Amino acid sequence: MENELYDITFVGAGPVALYGMYYAGLRMTRYKAIDMLDEVGGGLMALYPEKYIYDVAGFPKILAKDLTRQMQQQATQYPHTMCLGEKVLDLKRTDEGIIEITTDRGLHLSKTVVVCAGLGAYIPKKIDVPNIQELEGRGVFYSVRRLRDFHGKNILVVGGGDSAFDYSMMLEPVAAKITHIHRNDFFSAHEDSVRKVRESSVELLVPFWEVKEIEGDDWVKRVTIVQTRTGEERVLDIDAIIFNIGFLTNLGPIEQWGLTLDKNAIAVDSRMRTNVEGIYAAGDIVTYDGKLKLISTGCGEVAIAVNNAKNYIHPKAKVSPGHSTDKHELAQQRWAKKSAAGEENPTPSTTRNKTGP
Ligand SMILES: Cc1cc2nc3c(=O)[nH]c(=O)nc-3n(C[C@H](O)[C@H](O)[C@H](O)COP(=O)(O)OP(=O)(O)OC[C@H]3O[C@@H](n4cnc5c(N)ncnc54)[C@H](O)[C@@H]3O)c2cc1C
Repeated sequence: MENELYDITFVGAGPVALYGMYYAGLRMTRYKAIDMLDEVGGGLMALYPEKYIYDVAGFPKILAKDLTRQMQQQATQYPHTMCLGEKVLDLKRTDEGIIEITTDRGLHLSKTVVVCAGLGAYIPKKIDVPNIQELEGRGVFYSVRRLRDFHGKNILVVGGGDSAFDYSMMLEPVAAKITHIHRNDFFSAHEDSVRKVRESSVELLVPFWEVKEIEGDDWVKRVTIVQTRTGEERVLDIDAIIFNIGFLTNLGPIEQWGLTLDKNAIAVDSRMRTNVEGIYAAGDIVTYDGKLKLISTGCGEVAIAVNNAKNYIHPKAKVSPGHSTDKHELAQQRWAKKSAAGEENPTPSTTRNKTGP
C-alpha cells in the first residue's frame, strides 16, 4: 500500500540508494526506494552499463551492469518495496514528524527519507550545428548503452572529461576506428585514462579540434572537424559520434523541497543530515567540504545516512551497525520470524513499474 508508513524511503535507486537499502534491511527497518527510471542502477545502467569500473573496493574490474546486478542482489535480500517508473515531486515534513512524499503516482509516507537522486535529471550538453537534432539516435549519441551497436564502426568521440575517455577505451576493442577530439588544451579526465587512450589505437586530435558539420540523411555519414586555431579542416567518414561534453545539472523538483542547496547540490553535515529533520542525502546529489562524486564515496555516505536514520527513528539503537558478520545472520533470522508471525510480507520484494500492478 502506498500510504503505509515506512521507516526509510530512498529517493532514487542508483548505486548509492541500492547500497543504502542493504543497510536499511540489515538494521531491521522497513524500507522503500522510488526511482523515476524503469530499472535500478541510476547512471550505471542509464549511461554506461557496458563500461568497466576499476575503482570499486573488492572489484579490480567490473562491468557497470554486473556491479548493478550484485548491488541489487545485496539490496533486495530483505523485505522491501521498490517503486520504479515513479518520479518524486515533493517532500514535506508534517507537524507530526512524518515525511510526505508526493510522486506522479500518489503519496508515500515515511519516518525518514534518504535522497540519493544523483544529478537529478541527466541532460547532456549539446552543440549547435545544423542537422544534429534530426540525427540524434541515428549516429549522434550522448551515451553508449550497448557495445554491440558499435561493432566495426568508425566512431568520433568528442570531449576531454572522464566520460569521453571512458567511452573511447570501452569502444576501442570493438570499433573499426576511433577518432577522439577535444577543444581545450587540457583534459579534465583522469591522467591514467588519457595515457591509456594515447597508448591505444585511438587517434587523439588535441587541442582545439571541434565538430563543424555533420552530414547524413537517415544516419550520420560524414563529419567535418576543424582545428580552431589553424583553421585546418578534415572530413571523416563516420558511423557514430559520441558527444560527451558534460551534463547540465537540473535538479528539477528537488529545488522546491526546502532543502539547503549549494551549487546545485544538497548541503549535508557529517551525519548526512539535510537542514530538514528526518531527511538525509547521499551520493552525487550532496555537497560538503571535500566531496568526491564516486560510487565508493557515495556508498560510504549512504551507510552513514542510514545508520543515523536508524538512530533517529529508534534513539536507543546504536548508530554504529557493528560488524556485518553476526548482524547479517541475526537480521535474516529476525526478518524470517516477522514473516512467520505475519508482521511482514513473506515475499522478499515488491517491484512495481509503470506497467506493473
Ligand atoms: C560515463 C561515466 C563514467 C563513470 N565512471 C565511474 C567510475 O568508473 N567510477 C566511479 O566511482 N564513478 C563513475 N562515474 C560516476 C558515478 O556514475 C556516480 O558517482 C554514481 O552513479 C552516483 O550514484 P548515485 O546513486 O548518487 O546517483 P545516480 O547513479 O545518478 O542515481 C540517481 C537515481 O535517482 C533517480 N532520481 C533522480 N531524481 C529523482 C526523482 N525526483 N524521483 C525519482 N527518482 C529520481 C535517477 O533516475 C537515478 O536513477 C561515472 C559517471 C559517468 C557519467
